[in-house]
Amino acid sequence: MHFHFITLFPEMFDSYLGESILGRAIKEKKISVTFTNPRKFVTGKYKKVWPDGNISQQIDERPYGGGPGMVMMAEPVIKAAESVIKKIIHPTLRAPLKRGIKPKILIINFIPSAKKFTTEVAKKISGKFTDVILICGRYEGIDTRLDKILKTTKFSIGDYVLTGGEIPAMILIDCISRQVKGVLGNFDSREEERISSSVMYTRPEVLVYKGKKYKVPKILLSGNHKKIEEWKENSRKN
Ligand code: SAM
Repeated sequence: MHFHFITLFPEMFDSYLGESILGRAIKEKKISVTFTNPRKFVTGKYKKVWPDGNISQQIDERPYGGGPGMVMMAEPVIKAAESVIKKIIHPTLRAPLKRGIKPKILIINFIPSAKKFTTEVAKKISGKFTDVILICGRYEGIDTRLDKILKTTKFSIGDYVLTGGEIPAMILIDCISRQVKGVLGNFDSREEERISSSVMYTRPEVLVYKGKKYKVPKILLSGNHKKIEEWKENSRKN
């Protein structure tokens, strides 16, 4: 799977995608990532070259109808996404390993009030698409016409408002990548494929903390796998 981030802040991803399971998956080419900054696609009066040679590219504008904050203009974001799509579908621009595989692209925009992203959705996406474009909004969000023009799929990651779409995009790549074969050392360790519980214990059997003893539940030491699975199932529900 290939993930393409459209973001004003590509550096935000360095640490998260450079470490642990996702870092390894990228190194081993199980997944790949690209970054495109929509600010580079700002043109016209919004792009200014100053006498000292510095260039400023303004991507935000005041909202029609009034209201607080600024809104990202649709056009630079659309152009950024189109430049990504061109590379995905172009037979020679496409990375050699991907040539010959028919790309199936999903474009995602993040909206706090949209339908919730879930593991079920992640499974469907990993089974259906080769390339996912993740558009990370900033300011008060992106001009709504973007969704119509690019035919985006809109997701929220929860009932709260963040300052930008970068954390939602990291959540999506993390959750979708878990569904890609070879990303997790043991594919079956995905919680959804086994009976798991959010209640878990490891060594030592008796943890002594500030003079008090905290024991592992006896059932987990019993060796009775059927009973253990039942116990886990119950603890998952509670
Ligand atoms: N004006 C928007 C509203 O009232 O719904 C809030 C925009 S928020 C400050 C800026 C960006 O952060 C959004 O465009 C979106 O990309 C991202 N974002 C914030 N909260 C999010 C959430 N719960 N789920 C997904 N994306 C979120």
